[in-house]
Amino acid sequence: MPSIFTPPAEHPHLDAADPGLLAAVAAGHARLTPEQGLALFNRLPLTTLGRYADARCRTIHGDLIRTYIIDRNINYTNVCSARCTFCAFRRDADDHDAYTLDPAEIHDKIAALQAIGGTQILMQGGMNPALPLSWYEDLLRGIKARFPDIHIHAFSPPEMIEFVRFFDPPGDTLEDKIRWVLVRLRDAGLDSLPGGGGEIFAGPVRRKIGLGKCDANAWLTTMYVAHTLGMFTSATMMFGHIEGYADRVHHMWLVRQWQDRVLREAADRAEPTGHYKAFISWPFQRENTPLGRVKDWGANPAELADGAEFPGDVVARAFDWGRHEDVDYRTLGPAAAEFGRRVRMSGSTDYLRTQALSRLFLDNIYSIGASWVTMGPHIGQVALSFGANDMGSVMMEENVVSSAGTTYCLDEALLCRLIREAGFLPAQRNNTYDILRVHAGDPTDPDLAVTDWSTHRARRLHIQTEHKAEAGAALTVSAR
Ligand code: SF4
Repeated sequence: MPSIFTPPAEHPHLDAADPGLLAAVAAGHARLTPEQGLALFNRLPLTTLGRYADARCRTIHGDLIRTYIIDRNINYTNVCSARCTFCAFRRDADDHDAYTLDPAEIHDKIAALQAIGGTQILMQGGMNPALPLSWYEDLLRGIKARFPDIHIHAFSPPEMIEFVRFFDPPGDTLEDKIRWVLVRLRDAGLDSLPGGGGEIFAGPVRRKIGLGKCDANAWLTTMYVAHTLGMFTSATMMFGHIEGYADRVHHMWLVRQWQDRVLREAADRAEPTGHYKAFISWPFQRENTPLGRVKDWGANPAELADGAEFPGDVVARAFDWGRHEDVDYRTLGPAAAEFGRRVRMSGSTDYLRTQALSRLFLDNIYSIGASWVTMGPHIGQVALSFGANDMGSVMMEENVVSSAGTTYCLDEALLCRLIREAGFLPAQRNNTYDILRVHAGDPTDPDLAVTDWSTHRARRLHIQTEHKAEAGAALTVSAR
């Protein structure tokens, strides 16, 4: 039977800002090329970009409802074999504050989650070589035995790739080996994979910031295997560091291509097939990280002169959408020589611009998540008018991003209030974005039932490296 999946057509001859093209993209009838995506990012006024992203969001999700989920981040270990330069969370096994949670602690956290109506755990760790496969299988079986209704969203692609290295599974190809491990974990209770560790896929950037972490192909292959096993996953991007703007578009382009592939094959496959349900992007948080100590771009007046280019943009241009994966940036002139030695940090407008572009570019991804956890609740609220349809989760704890900067914790009432005040009805969803309940204005709705907001303030989280909270008990967001 022929495949019934057909992506919208590209119109490369049209100018990116052509109103007819943008209206067709918003309606789901046309697809942006990467070149058009980059041109939109660079040229379109923020509010215009936001308006089209909002129109695209409303085409997919309607005008009424915006969603959230109640889940809990559980960072089961901070011992990690990688040394990502943007990470303030990892520890070596012999560090005084290295930890691995025992199953009883994890069960306590899940019980607390269930008590507030939670439906899912997001469990990710460092990549700890001391933990055998049986540790994960026992953990998953133990959770499912005690909490059969809790969805286990766990182990991002970099963890899966390290599992392949640690456990040496049978198989001739990386895909075979990943499938073997994933089937073992799925049979023990794993429901789906989060999209952590996406960062930036472009090789020149990834090799600089993700030391010891899997490359883009391994990351994307892991998700592909998960999809063929019927799992729904998410994709993420962490931007606003050494990358060029084109690298962000290239990253989204790879996600879109692999999503096309799995959707095309799903149409021809008899067994249930998963795919990426969501894309979430957030800016790099710098504190306590080696990458955070790199100089800001623009600190030197020459870097602000006419014609001066950010090193990441020069390298991204030579990378040429992945056609020159092994570009030697040292041959590209003095600006590129500074690649990796300058960061271009992201602020609110850069964040909203990136998120809006993701909504327009990723025409085959259902959900775009707002990153209020790093950007703050009020930018998260604005993000609902820049292409995002989902506010993610209430935040009970987070230990990864908050080790590198301030993040925020919100409870369900506040999350509902933010969505309602942005002009939508808040609705609780599950992992596959089915609506569990809509808070349509009943006095018992989580936000409308509140009589004293002073006890519902957003909490700021920030773990100082020097004063780390007790291992595993730290309140802190991580990749979804
Ligand atoms: S970001 Fe994740 S993989 Fe990288 S060092 Fe930190 S814990 Fe390890």
